[in-house]
Amino acid sequence: MVSILPGTAGAQDLPGYKPILWEYLETICAFGPRPPGSHGHRMLQAYIKAVGGKYADEVREQPFTFQKGNNPPVSMMNIELVFHGASRKRPILLGTHYDTRPFADSETDPYSWKFPILGANDGGSGTAVLLALAQYLHAHPPVRPVRLVFFDGEDYGVKFSSDYFLGSKHYAAQLNKKDRGEWPYCVLIIDMVGDKELEIARETYSHENASWLLKMIVESAQKLKVTQFLTQPKHTVQDDHLPFIEIGVPAALLIDFDYPYWHTLQDTLDKCSPESLFAVFSVVVDAMKKI
Ligand SMILES: [Zn+2]
Repeated sequence: MVSILPGTAGAQDLPGYKPILWEYLETICAFGPRPPGSHGHRMLQAYIKAVGGKYADEVREQPFTFQKGNNPPVSMMNIELVFHGASRKRPILLGTHYDTRPFADSETDPYSWKFPILGANDGGSGTAVLLALAQYLHAHPPVRPVRLVFFDGEDYGVKFSSDYFLGSKHYAAQLNKKDRGEWPYCVLIIDMVGDKELEIARETYSHENASWLLKMIVESAQKLKVTQFLTQPKHTVQDDHLPFIEIGVPAALLIDFDYPYWHTLQDTLDKCSPESLFAVFSVVVDAMKKI
């Protein structure tokens, strides 16, 4: 059961979303680690659906199973919040992963590897931004349709395996069976954007496949005097944008990959800030209006 009502602050103006973003992240972290199959994972699924039920035009569930070798199958689910928009244009897809890593395998002490991470930044921050966007889009209905997609199983794979991005791979595979007219116009993935020391550089795959989208985002950041966005390319990051790039949808990733607590037990709320979440939120809101 969901005991905490989403978005209680109820502000309509943009700066009012800063405490709302933080409230979402606190609520998400209060569920504990959220790897597939866990109690925290089920709690967050229910929470996303509750927020969607309150703010979105439609809530769609996309269940799937993942099975590795002879291991028992694991149930996973993408959750999509649909905003119909005022036009018949193709939708913008904004995505994030809501699962967290089942093992803290970047810890130096191997004993810690067996514990799941809290994922305040990795899993939590993108989810908080998308939930706040649902609230914003309810108050400010978009012209172009918007899909907010919460992907499962992004961080499920063991190191050097291919068992990552399970939810976005499943979503893209289903999309590939549909007519291209139903595809999203573009995809923007938001991941690890809560770091107090936020610096979002141009991610390489995004730069190569959707440079126009990154240009719009940087222009919005400059207009809003948001200094956390850098103009130069830096890291090459495999994330939920790749399955879309592979089928031919322009897709970009907003990420700060310089995060010392990545895949450790120290990825906790105190490493994040409302200012960082709000920087990304405000830039995405502004850029979305131009697409
Ligand atoms: Zn991760």
